[in-house]
Amino acid sequence: GEFVLHYQPLVRASDGQLEGMEALLRWAHPQRGLVPPLAFIELAEELGCIEAIGAWVLDEACGQLARWRAQGLGPRRIGVNVSAHQLRSTQLTAHVQACLTRHGLPAEVLVLELTESAAMAQPEASIRCLQSLRALGVSLSIDDFGTGYSSLAYLKLLPIQSLKLDRSFVRDIEHSENDAAISAATLALAHTLGLHAVAEGVETEGQRRFLQAQGCDLLQGY
Ligand code: MN
Repeated sequence: GEFVLHYQPLVRASDGQLEGMEALLRWAHPQRGLVPPLAFIELAEELGCIEAIGAWVLDEACGQLARWRAQGLGPRRIGVNVSAHQLRSTQLTAHVQACLTRHGLPAEVLVLELTESAAMAQPEASIRCLQSLRALGVSLSIDDFGTGYSSLAYLKLLPIQSLKLDRSFVRDIEHSENDAAISAATLALAHTLGLHAVAEGVETEGQRRFLQAQGCDLLQGY
């Protein structure tokens, strides 16, 4: 009962309109304060409770979007992170469908985010799982792009709709030629593959201007 979700907005680069929210897990620990997922997800995987946590996050995020929609508020879409472990579960598609039904949400409002490493760990099995999720109508996004081990040969086979440029490239995009070049190339790669490009960690006007000029579709900040 100590988990909470925090939400980060995604706005359209073209006009700043709110498009979606990403749900991010935090552990509101009574002594340690707000613990980020990096500090406990690996442990949760080892202890075998990652699926229960993943199911809670999905249910809570969908419930929140349903409440926003009922109030005529908020984003059109909700992004939820999926771990490699969840991706290996044969139940994932059924769980996602059941959760959408429970909250009366159409599948198009849900964006599942997975890292390159999760998607590429067992590529054939992942592609099958992602295809069945895609068949439901949910969108799929590659998270933290550029930070993991990735195979471009597999990337083109994944039934994904968007790439998320990792925040580590965005942070110094105004001052680092390397980060600017990597970001521009990643956005171009996304568009060449027919995908939407999303930048994470956009916090300054300069970052926004650069990314907008490079054709980035969505900007996500804190
Ligand atoms: Mn994410």
